[in-house]
Amino acid sequence: MTPRRIAVLGAGGFIGSHLAPALAERFGCEIDAVDVTFEKLTTADARVHRHEARIEDAGVAEEVTRRASVVVSLTALCNPSLYSTKPLEVIDANFTHLLPLVRLCTERQVRLIHFSTAEVYGRRALDSAGEPTLEMNEDDSCSVLGPVHRERWTYACAKQLMERVIWAHGQHHGLDFSIVRPFNTIGPRMDYLPGIDGEGTPRVLACFINQLLRGEPLKLVAGGHQRRAFMDVADMVEAVCRILERPAACRGQILNLGNPANEVSIAELGRLLSRELTAFLPLARPPRFEDVSAADFYGEGYDDTEQRVPDITKARRLLSWEPRVGLKQMLPNILKDYVERYAGRVVGPTSPFPIAQGLVA
Ligand code: NAD
Ligand code: UDP
Repeated sequence: MTPRRIAVLGAGGFIGSHLAPALAERFGCEIDAVDVTFEKLTTADARVHRHEARIEDAGVAEEVTRRASVVVSLTALCNPSLYSTKPLEVIDANFTHLLPLVRLCTERQVRLIHFSTAEVYGRRALDSAGEPTLEMNEDDSCSVLGPVHRERWTYACAKQLMERVIWAHGQHHGLDFSIVRPFNTIGPRMDYLPGIDGEGTPRVLACFINQLLRGEPLKLVAGGHQRRAFMDVADMVEAVCRILERPAACRGQILNLGNPANEVSIAELGRLLSRELTAFLPLARPPRFEDVSAADFYGEGYDDTEQRVPDITKARRLLSWEPRVGLKQMLPNILKDYVERYAGRVVGPTSPFPIAQGLVA
């Protein structure tokens, strides 16, 4: 099944910049790439058309749904440090601003593939009876968000309400939709390095790489015992391509996409990254760790998920898909990207860069 034209909203972001060129290649069709920035979308593929716009701007959702037969919607503010510092912007970006898009997809019979998040499961995995489980399941698990004063959950709540709006349009007004719940997807071009091409606190991968490149201690929030299952962005792209290829099977489905085999503690992720970095910067120092409280690192209102592991039975069944890239296998490619992009831009007395110039592989 070949889509006529695909709109990728948020195509200038981390996942979007991998997905948009892959969709053009896979389906041989034109891609409308919408974002406010395209620095990460470096493809020269002429089928990828860049439109610099905000999705909530007048006429943008109209235009997108008039041209495309499928919309993949990724636009979001999805950085945990923002959830308690800019909660209203987070709610708008993940909910309010997307309402017209969903309505237009319904009215115009445009297929919608919407990126939600594993955060909707909340603090921990519980089955439908509230009993603890290891894995989070799309059609069985409860959602356990913390109290309202824990503003961490603004994002999860906004994303969940958007899922419910999409679901209702599907159930009652015929919207052809699939919802993706990504679990900690990582890869080249994720986020930014604070003080160089962004401010604030990115997600943990970029935080740790930033600290390693500056020769600073890795900050472990609450000891780094929290556990996450990390998936390579290439596995995400393959799964989304298959969702596009299988419209009947995926219609009205919510799909976890993640790699349960890559579950580690955050402290372990730091150790692995540090070990792999020495392949590119042999003079990089052994990692140092510093325990920080969540309140000191993120401010009041933060909260955390202890362990987040996907049940991907449904994705395996509907997509004949299996995430393939192991954590140790994906890290060299990721580190190579950061080292090449930021070499010379990271400064600091203890950074491995000044003494290791020329040693980059
Ligand atoms: P990202 O921040 O790199 O990409 C989001 C993109 O959306 C950015 O380029 C941003 O400029 C753009 N954007 C935001 N608001 C916009 C607006 N109003 N108009 C136009 N563009 C706008 O994030 P990502 O990691 O690529 O995530 C993509 C999607 O996947 C998001 O919906 C996110 O919530 C979801 N997700 C990702 C992960 C992950 O591990 N990467 C985990 C869970 C959910
Ligand atoms: N974290 C950490 N040090 C950092 C950044 C994050 O210990 O420098 C922790 C954070 O508290 C969380 C985990 O790493 O438990 C993953 O954080 P991330 O921001 O990637 O997003 P999340 O998986 O929580 O959505």
